[in-house]
Amino acid sequence: MKIDYHMHFEKGSYDKAWVEGFFTAAKARGLAEIGISEHSHTFPEFKELYYEDLVLDDSFIGKFQQQWLKSNKFKYTLDDYFSFMAELRKVHTVRTGIEVCNFQDQAKVRDILKDYAFDYVIGSVHFLHGWAYDSAEIKAEWERHPLEEIYGWYTEEIEKLAAAGLYDVLGHPFNIRLFKFLPDFDVTPYLERAVKALKQADMIVDVNTGTLYRYPIAEISPYPEFMRLAAKYDLPIITTSDAHKPEDCGAYNQEAVDYAKRFGYTTTLQLMERKRKVIELD
Ligand SMILES: [Zn+2]
Ligand SMILES: [Zn+2]
Repeated sequence: MKIDYHMHFEKGSYDKAWVEGFFTAAKARGLAEIGISEHSHTFPEFKELYYEDLVLDDSFIGKFQQQWLKSNKFKYTLDDYFSFMAELRKVHTVRTGIEVCNFQDQAKVRDILKDYAFDYVIGSVHFLHGWAYDSAEIKAEWERHPLEEIYGWYTEEIEKLAAAGLYDVLGHPFNIRLFKFLPDFDVTPYLERAVKALKQADMIVDVNTGTLYRYPIAEISPYPEFMRLAAKYDLPIITTSDAHKPEDCGAYNQEAVDYAKRFGYTTTLQLMERKRKVIELD
């Protein structure tokens, strides 16, 4: 049974005609079920957390991020999202998820999430010390930090997300390879720390094709070294496209399934109402 639980409506609006394209693409790719995982920056409820965490000064990244927060963000409330999803559920099988950035104030995140009946919650590291490391426009910032320091930061953020106990899934683990800044040091200690944190928090690994078709690295995240450890620790997986456009829904799903099978995976999960059902990976 093919499923894709990681995709975003944010490039369009909550308009039934526009989102129909996601369901059309899902059907064409043989997906039995999809779930939407809107970014936390879609919702004004999270606005304060971004202003607390992001570098927003006069620096190179600060100036970019000030603008970033002003473009196409915080446009629907969580209530708007849930009513729109309720409308969609009248005609489609679709789950309601969310992808939450790695905020420092997890108590505040918990307080926002508690009032909403999500099917699943993805936690993703999108910021390192307030820097949106995956934004191509500020890619030059990568040259300003030793890569090993970046790996240390990234791993710490995973540990914090896991410790918060709020998340079902870790989004696109170790996508920090996206711009092809590749380590010349042993990354195993970082990967092991991350995998152990996920195991302890009973979190799912998001095998995400977004980095395969949207970033220079052109590989599925997490990359093979992480996948080997994830399989060794028996962490569950889901396979996703991280689609930002209707036509990308389910993109490279078969490749992600085949990739996971290479590491010995035979099952995936159906997620609903924060519960899991083990199903065959095919
Ligand atoms: Zn993400
Ligand atoms: Zn995403």
